[in-house]
Amino acid sequence: MAPRCSNCNQPLTGPYCSQCGEPVRNPDDLTLRGFLIKSAATLLDLERGLFGTLHRLVTKPGQLTQEFLRGRRKTQVHPFRLFLMINVLYFFLQPMLLSNTYNTRLKGHMNRQYYSPQVRQMITQTLATRKIDFETYAEQFDKTTSKLTSLFMITLVPLLALITAFLFRKAGVPAVGHLVFALHFFSFFLLLGSIGFGLVLHGLFILYKAMGWKAGSLFNEVVLSSSMLMIAMFYLQPAFRRVFGGGFWRSLGMAFVIGLLLFPIIITYRYGLFLVTWVWV
Ligand SMILES: [Zn+2]
Repeated sequence: MAPRCSNCNQPLTGPYCSQCGEPVRNPDDLTLRGFLIKSAATLLDLERGLFGTLHRLVTKPGQLTQEFLRGRRKTQVHPFRLFLMINVLYFFLQPMLLSNTYNTRLKGHMNRQYYSPQVRQMITQTLATRKIDFETYAEQFDKTTSKLTSLFMITLVPLLALITAFLFRKAGVPAVGHLVFALHFFSFFLLLGSIGFGLVLHGLFILYKAMGWKAGSLFNEVVLSSSMLMIAMFYLQPAFRRVFGGGFWRSLGMAFVIGLLLFPIIITYRYGLFLVTWVWV
């Protein structure tokens, strides 16, 4: 007599139920020792899965997407889950980060952007009608913006997916592939471009201050933006080749196109974030 699944009563033929995935009952499951061993293994598995995924995300651009498309999904954290996890990490670390690409404070909106004149006008009007001072308003604004950032960042994913779907329309990759590619790219970009780069800059800034050097020239918008562009391009070129095929120069050209497109995308993103926060506060 074949043993039956304890969950759905299907006859069992392997270590897992072929119907519902329930593992075969093990006498060890209900001993304290078995439970502890299982708990440790779960933790280790989780860690191996996450670190393995992060390692491949950073060192092998495009490999996670490629594996996902080939149906090898067991060895990686699901792309959306990975993106959310890195988002949460970013959310907690962002007060420490100097280069806030995604989350712009009110002062940043008012001074450094192409749309700054319009923002200044809107804010002046808002302050006048509500009769509150700038500091109070700015504090409320910045608090709300950092809450909206993670939510808003998700909108960048389908946007990039649409762009690669257009640029690589002959590569024969399904729509989901473009979405997964975008999730992986922004996971990487957040992890290295924002968290990693931000922490490095923060460290440099502290060093400069300690040495009594002037840091202003190092941290201007042009240096920051071109560093981000370089990071994006060095990642996208091999990633494109792996996932969409094509030669070295073609993928380099495409990486450059997307790298340049990131600027208007990020500016539009910032402006959108400003408008939503302005309406919200
Ligand atoms: Zn079952």
